[in-house]
Amino acid sequence: MLSILAVQAHPDDVETLASGALAIAATAGARVTIVTMTAGECGTIADNPAQTAAIRQAEAGAAAALIGASYRCVGLPDLGVFNDDASRRRTTEIVRWARPDIVITAAPEDYHPDHDATSVLVRDACFAASAPAYRTGVVEPLASIPHLYFMDPIGLRRRDGTPVSPDFAIDVSAVMDLKRQMLEAHQSQKTWLAKQHGVTNFTASMEAQARRRGQDFGVAAAEGFTQYRHTPYPRTPLLQDFLGSMVLTGP
Ligand SMILES: [Zn+2]
Repeated sequence: MLSILAVQAHPDDVETLASGALAIAATAGARVTIVTMTAGECGTIADNPAQTAAIRQAEAGAAAALIGASYRCVGLPDLGVFNDDASRRRTTEIVRWARPDIVITAAPEDYHPDHDATSVLVRDACFAASAPAYRTGVVEPLASIPHLYFMDPIGLRRRDGTPVSPDFAIDVSAVMDLKRQMLEAHQSQKTWLAKQHGVTNFTASMEAQARRRGQDFGVAAAEGFTQYRHTPYPRTPLLQDFLGSMVLTGP
């Protein structure tokens, strides 16, 4: 069974950026694992971070369960994801635990420092996961480096405002209801965004982004992905081949 691991910084990022593709992959028979680096305990107006972390992890678990995926949190602090030795070892341990053939993570350049740090930590954890002498804990090293892909960034653009052009997109038009339900599982964020930012339609920005990426590829809704191809990572199109007819390679 193909094993796919999606890693992002905070609960609700995967739901926003890649849950449609993951839903399609799960239906096609893949084993899907969703991991967040943090529990997102800063995404709240309440002053009890431990309680917020517990609520958000429960929400992320419920969202993952909607597609039969499992969920785990690395436990780094929200707004405290850094590319350092301890964090690389913890990230490598969780990659080893998930035993993935494919890893999908944050774009190298996104809007939030935790996203950028997650991207580089996961990239390097994929490399380290198959090195037997790199000790991380109790889980055995992987037999080989998994295939690595980056999600689109939030807003589909880099920090300088220039648009990101992904390698390919996945047509998620048929699973938009499920994608919306997964995001809506994050009820605490609906409350937080309404109070903090006056956002009344919690899922609107996710839907607008999916529609915009869809427009680029001539479908109603899509999610973009880019494969990491540097040595010694595998360059064969494993995810593209698995998702077959849902893959869009040009407008
Ligand atoms: Zn995030």
